[in-house]
Amino acid sequence: MRIASWQWGGRDHVGTLSACGREVTPLAVADAARGALPLIEALARGEPLPSAAGPRLPTEVVTLRAPLPRPLRSLFCAGRNYRAHAAELATTVFRDSLPKEDLWPIVFAKLGECVVGPFDAVRLPGSAVSTQIDYESELAVVIGRGGRDIPRSRAMEHVFGYTIVNDVTARDLQVRHMQWDLGKSLDTFCPMGPCIVSADELDGRSTRVRGWVNGDLRQDAHTRDLIFDIPTLIETCSRGLTLYPGDVIATGSPAGVGMGFNPPRWLNPGDVVRIEIDGIGAIENRFQ
Ligand code: MG
Repeated sequence: MRIASWQWGGRDHVGTLSACGREVTPLAVADAARGALPLIEALARGEPLPSAAGPRLPTEVVTLRAPLPRPLRSLFCAGRNYRAHAAELATTVFRDSLPKEDLWPIVFAKLGECVVGPFDAVRLPGSAVSTQIDYESELAVVIGRGGRDIPRSRAMEHVFGYTIVNDVTARDLQVRHMQWDLGKSLDTFCPMGPCIVSADELDGRSTRVRGWVNGDLRQDAHTRDLIFDIPTLIETCSRGLTLYPGDVIATGSPAGVGMGFNPPRWLNPGDVVRIEIDGIGAIENRFQ
């Protein structure tokens, strides 16, 4: 099942996206402005999938929103979670904060208010705020059944599905403030979508993640190569902390970010970043 959220006829809708990605069918969900969140909460309570609430529509006539336009709270994000990405950062300002051993993942928060739709524009904040805007192509896990102290061995039972996020980052802010949250959370810095693919249709532990800037393939990795896999991330994020239905865990960026080039290749007005994940689809966002 593919869950999408869209605007049509001046209203918000949530429903299913066809396997081909070309048609949406609205479901009878109250409070569709919250996207897939009320649906995920209802399914987690054991309620059945709501019935269709309108005709199928081609995606061309609707405006896709992020499937979780306002997540329940901040997104949990893993940092430096592919070896090749860790290696490219070892030549940057982050070299001194590299962990000696891979004992624990880096986890930070990205404010949920910066989520935008899969094809929305990302607003560059202006040079007075940041001159080092970067992209990160990531698989994001959406939690279904909540829980606390979830062991690795049971973690996949708590996955509702998967979506794509661009963990857009202002590198200068990320570094300047010690904590990463500001540099990760500027307005519009989290394109998400185009849908959530449920875990019965996709195993996020084994899929390919690619990212292009203006058609140039920059990132190409496989989630099998995550340093901390999805069960470990769920176990880590739920230690003494309750995860709720609809919580999002972004699994980290592959190598090939702008910061990894010498000289760095920051995003400029007019640049278009496309992220594709096998089994989910693609998001594409213009920076302006
Ligand atoms: Mg990231």
